Amino acid sequence: MDTIAAIASGGRAPAAIGIVRISGPDCFAVCDRIFRSGKPFGRLEPRRMALGELLDAGGRTIDRGLAVRFPGPHSYTGEDCAEFHCHGSPVVLGEVLAALFAAGAAEGLPVRQAGPGEFTKRAFLNGQLDLTQAEAVIDLIDAETAAAARNAAAQLNGGLRRVLEPIQEALLEVTSRFYAVVDYPDEDIQDVQPEEIAAALREASGALKALLATCRRGRVLKKGVRTAIVGLPNAGKSSLLNALAGYERAIVTDVPGTTRDTVEEAVLCGGVLLRLVDTAGLRETEDEVERLGVERSRRAMETAELILLVEDSADEEALPEKTALEEAVSQTGKPWIHVASKRDRSGIRSASLGGPDGGRIPAASVSLSALTGEGLEDLENAVAALFPAGEQGEAGSLLTDQRQEDAARRALEALDRALEALESGLTPDAVLTDAEEALDAVGELTGRTAKEEIVSRIFSRFCVGK
Ligand code: GDP
Repeated sequence: MDTIAAIASGGRAPAAIGIVRISGPDCFAVCDRIFRSGKPFGRLEPRRMALGELLDAGGRTIDRGLAVRFPGPHSYTGEDCAEFHCHGSPVVLGEVLAALFAAGAAEGLPVRQAGPGEFTKRAFLNGQLDLTQAEAVIDLIDAETAAAARNAAAQLNGGLRRVLEPIQEALLEVTSRFYAVVDYPDEDIQDVQPEEIAAALREASGALKALLATCRRGRVLKKGVRTAIVGLPNAGKSSLLNALAGYERAIVTDVPGTTRDTVEEAVLCGGVLLRLVDTAGLRETEDEVERLGVERSRRAMETAELILLVEDSADEEALPEKTALEEAVSQTGKPWIHVASKRDRSGIRSASLGGPDGGRIPAASVSLSALTGEGLEDLENAVAALFPAGEQGEAGSLLTDQRQEDAARRALEALDRALEALESGLTPDAVLTDAEEALDAVGELTGRTAKEEIVSRIFSRFCVGK
């Protein structure tokens, strides 16, 4: 392993504090050349901050700052690591990093720039974290809502690992017993106690099914819900978007069809992150269908997972157009919420919940005023009811990503095949093949058997310095 270094904090804009990080076998010898505190770097008390001067290759002071020494293996990466907490000027941080590279070269102990996620990748390779925990690190950095951050933190604490470990253990036990039978065919199949094994496989299968049932909630938590706001021109769509976003994001005008550009926004509604897609409003064109916005709305609705249909209840003239739009919305079969707008004018005050009927009737009906904010709470409640947060204790043990979902699904399929083979009395090697496949798929999730390319792809999503 070579020694790597990087700026770990933002680094591009001035800030109060910035952090440069280094990890690798030669790390302390290199740090010793750039940090002067009255003690050799290797003798600084582990995991305690020390005040000192950071020096460049010519011995000039770059900054006065703090250094922390983390001797391996009890460090983030599992190897010797150190951090320098300096003044957060991009220039200072760049100089400190350059000083580390220069010091490494002078000592004949080359230090190179760390790639994205390389510190965490080392932590994973050194067994400090499993793959689900490493993924939680990215999720925590990228978290857009408090709920997503909480979930990532619990996953980093091993929430998902604790669900997967017993499944992995059970499969290891099963495969090792079957190996014995396959390798020594003279032994009786009864020696592996098929009933006991079937019970273990059934339990693992149940646990995987329960895990797969968390996918939707996991996705909503991490990615949010793609939401289309549709409605006739002037229905109050941009006003609703603004009310949700809490500030003037889209341009609101009295002239129908003036919201020309595609406006995309993520807002928090009922604790759920809504990604509002193509909220550009409806343009006035010669084309009758386009004028009604049905075509445009259809396109926005195509990629959406939730539709908010906004209708100005006071506008009675547009009844045929409204009916056409409602028809288009319900044809998508997606969950939708009927939003009667401009409640301050119309005086309608109802809020009701619809039923799950394949989208033909709205999941909820709310009336609100984007102007006064009345009724927004009803919309929040309706969204929260459609995308429930899940159990309290569930945090950290959800599948939040496609990679995890694919691997869990393959594991379950292979496991169920193994179970079927066992119950129908097939030869031990048939059971073994499927059980091993399941084990491999679970191993991909935890990282135990993940191939290098999968691991590389995961860490490439990290930022440099993590
Ligand atoms: P869009 O074309 O569907 O995006 O509609 P806008 O949001 O641009 O609103 C059209 C007009 O209705 C504007 O003049 C808004 O000020 C007005 N409007 C929107 N929401 C409300 C509301 O809740 N109450 C009242 N009184 N007027 C509203």
